[in-house]
Amino acid sequence: MKPPPRAPASAAKLLSRPLTECVACVREGAALPSDLVSAAFDRADDIGAGSESLNVFLATDRERATEHAKGLTALIGRAEAPGNLAGVPVAVKDNIATLDMPTTCGSRILEGYVSPFEATVVRRLRANGAVIIGKTNMDEFAMGSSTENSAYGPTRNPVDIRRVPGGSSGGSAAAVAAGIVRLALGSETGGSVRQPASFCGIVGVKPTYGRVSRYGLVAFGSSLDQVGVLARTVEDAALGLEVIAGCDQFDSTSADVPVPRYELEKNAGLKGLVIGKPREYFPERLDPRIAQECERALDAYRELGAEVREVSLPHTAYSIPVYYIVAPAEASSNLARFDGVRYGLRVPSERGLAGMYEATRARGFGPEVTRRILLGTYVLSAGYYDAYYKKAQSVRALIAQDFRDVFASGVDVLFTPTTPTPAFELGAVKDPYEMYVSDIFTASANLAGVPAMSIPIGDARGLPVGGQIIAPHFAEPVMFRAAFGLERALAGELLPGEKSA
Ligand code: GLN
Repeated sequence: MKPPPRAPASAAKLLSRPLTECVACVREGAALPSDLVSAAFDRADDIGAGSESLNVFLATDRERATEHAKGLTALIGRAEAPGNLAGVPVAVKDNIATLDMPTTCGSRILEGYVSPFEATVVRRLRANGAVIIGKTNMDEFAMGSSTENSAYGPTRNPVDIRRVPGGSSGGSAAAVAAGIVRLALGSETGGSVRQPASFCGIVGVKPTYGRVSRYGLVAFGSSLDQVGVLARTVEDAALGLEVIAGCDQFDSTSADVPVPRYELEKNAGLKGLVIGKPREYFPERLDPRIAQECERALDAYRELGAEVREVSLPHTAYSIPVYYIVAPAEASSNLARFDGVRYGLRVPSERGLAGMYEATRARGFGPEVTRRILLGTYVLSAGYYDAYYKKAQSVRALIAQDFRDVFASGVDVLFTPTTPTPAFELGAVKDPYEMYVSDIFTASANLAGVPAMSIPIGDARGLPVGGQIIAPHFAEPVMFRAAFGLERALAGELLPGEKSA
């Protein structure tokens, strides 16, 4: 029997409710997808998302999004199931290919560039009824931790507009934190979903390498890159990941492993879970407010029946140096295709083809991307390859082995801070090396290929603090179980039989 129809719901209010409720309302006819889409655009207008104040989007297409939403209404009318994200407005990072809007990667070299095909993750979102409302600002080619490296101006943090939202998926994080959308896609190479999630007080998930198709994600470091999700709650993130995850014939690195229903972990409880606390992630110089919030989270875990065990990942100190050799090396190769011939910008030169290459790349790339290409070319060059690139690959294997060892010792998940500091002010971090240190707790999971997520665990001087949960390869379910439990404990909502933290 069909449930009785719900009373019409206010679309603006619905966007502040969990995705399951938004989707249920749409399916039962209590809300129209076009109302949800309008509410998202209205919210963006209200807070000036398009103007300098937040600078969340590089492109939006209200007309097409509305048309798409109307098409969904027709499907619902014909009772053709519109999917798990029916009518849900979603924002997509601008390095993920879409057919109806440009994909610029935050770079001048791809200004106005429209992809001839769509990313698998975008196709999966659409097939599940999601409506793509815009492309979000990012550090150029996803290189950065503040979104200040965008060629189109920085995004600001909705929690405090004097501060950065983190990066490189800063626009996606800000879109969620500002209440424009409940779900956004970002990408990760060394922390670009988790770090902005942490800075903006939301949830960010980097799946296992191979869990999600990279087809249509503009490559940065191909052995590290994964598409991830940003959301307000653990459950919303679980629903989003479930939709985009899975094997794809267009990406040979996507794994043929069944996609579990992550949201089913919601009520699994924490009893018996072994949480590893790696000592290298809690250095003495860690911001005391971040350390304090992490200890509070670990206490909550203990009180809900989990065991917290001190562990060691001895090669942690090498993750930044290794990452900043491997990632630029791969980037220097991947970005060689942007030479004025096939994609985007072309700057003519009187010095023939080589001159055109040089002029295009000199004008098209910003300073950080240029630095990475130089660095990557250097570490791959004859004479330096063994000393840098090959050595880094060996140490990368040791870092991955650390994770395998700790998980083999009976630890289910690891808990760490996501970032060493809360969101900093725009312009405050000028030294590139200081910026690279933002990834100190996140890059290791990319190097090892393991899944990791950040969830809000409190605040430091009024700024959000994120806690990171890291799990073994393809063990996203236990990662979500640990995240659901902590989210619940910190909100004071307990399962029957759980006592309060
Ligand atoms: N901040 C890191 C970098 O600049 C990570 C970026 C990312 O994950 N895309 O490379």
